[in-house]
Amino acid sequence: MGQVDSVQLLQQLVRIPSVNPMGRPVSSEPSAEGPEPGESAGMFSEGRLTDFLEQFCRRFGLEVFRQPVLPGRENLILRLPGHPPPEQGGQILLWDAHQDTVPPGQMPNPFDAQLRQGRLYGRGACDVKGGLAAMLAALVRLASESVSGQSGSASSGTAPARRPTVYLAATVDEEHGMSGVRAVQQLWQAGGGEIFPRRPDAAVVAEPTQLQVVVAHKGVMRWRCHTRGQACHSSQPREGVNAIYLMAEVLQALQEYAAMVPQLGWHPLCGHPSLSVGRIYGGQSVNIVPDRCTIEIDRRLLPDESPQQAWEHCLRYLLGCFTQPDRLEQEPPWPPIPGLSDQANSELAAKLSGLVTEVTGKDCQRIGVPYTTNAGFYTQAGVPTVVFGPGSIQQAHTSDEWIALDQVEQAAQVFYRLVTSWYLAS
Ligand SMILES: [Zn+2]
Repeated sequence: MGQVDSVQLLQQLVRIPSVNPMGRPVSSEPSAEGPEPGESAGMFSEGRLTDFLEQFCRRFGLEVFRQPVLPGRENLILRLPGHPPPEQGGQILLWDAHQDTVPPGQMPNPFDAQLRQGRLYGRGACDVKGGLAAMLAALVRLASESVSGQSGSASSGTAPARRPTVYLAATVDEEHGMSGVRAVQQLWQAGGGEIFPRRPDAAVVAEPTQLQVVVAHKGVMRWRCHTRGQACHSSQPREGVNAIYLMAEVLQALQEYAAMVPQLGWHPLCGHPSLSVGRIYGGQSVNIVPDRCTIEIDRRLLPDESPQQAWEHCLRYLLGCFTQPDRLEQEPPWPPIPGLSDQANSELAAKLSGLVTEVTGKDCQRIGVPYTTNAGFYTQAGVPTVVFGPGSIQQAHTSDEWIALDQVEQAAQVFYRLVTSWYLAS
């Protein structure tokens, strides 16, 4: 009693599809043309997984809160009270694991959760249901011990051991808009509320890091840039202004600029910033001189780089090269995804990597990664945060997604011991 098998739990999680609709309406078929191979109506959105998690957690006596984020899509926040409670000086430890996965694409049997040679195969196995299962298994073990009066490594008499209050935010929409984590932050802003009495003291975000501790990653900002021309019949192109030709000029300038961006900075774990144009569209028909052309620009930021300054720097450069600035329009950037800075998380990282070494008997590196995670949002909100979990990012989003089961079990032990041996000099 009181313990769950993290592998069995992971199988259950993978067998409940929780595919991010990636901007499409949740209630409809995946696309107007009908489902892609391997897709079916009803597998989109996190709702069924949210329901499962809620029931699972109530069964083990964990406190559960639902936080509406998008229509039919809710963060699930679990709480395990600590000693002393936060109101009496106790600390708050936040764990985050997203509920959603990317679509299965061409993956065979994406929701079968087959076990082969020490691995579990399926969509979401490593990104990030393996991490979610490990966190849940640790929480259930902790919850059962607090009921039975045990207290892990430091039990003595009847006095409860000092423990942080642990929250697990099972967030929605990490793979697309990151609106789940943006909503979690609001729970302690303006002085806290019903769920969080105040800001957490530390956070661990589950992603497949091969049990290494990620202490830094880049951020990203994106925006649209338009050129405005003047339409006319293509038989008399001189009567109009071709927005696609104008955009060609912009693109040439941006290509030159992109070659310079890496020189704007360097981070020992994250390398250089970068810029890339990812989409272009314009024109209505081949016999019309186009009056509008649009590109979408992706600018990768160093962890401590200001998105606003990076944007303005690029615009200044463009305006300096472009001969018709009045025909150039920039949309305001989409809300940026902040980077993970290693300025404030060194104590947490040292603690966690020490535990990993104790559990696995192997060295644990503190590393930087190129991808973005929910962690940047917690860092931005002033919470020391690291990224950690079982499985490899090499398998995430692929048609061969799998996770090594021994890593799931080791991660569950690390999460458990993180709580039972918790301290942070705050
Ligand atoms: Zn992920």
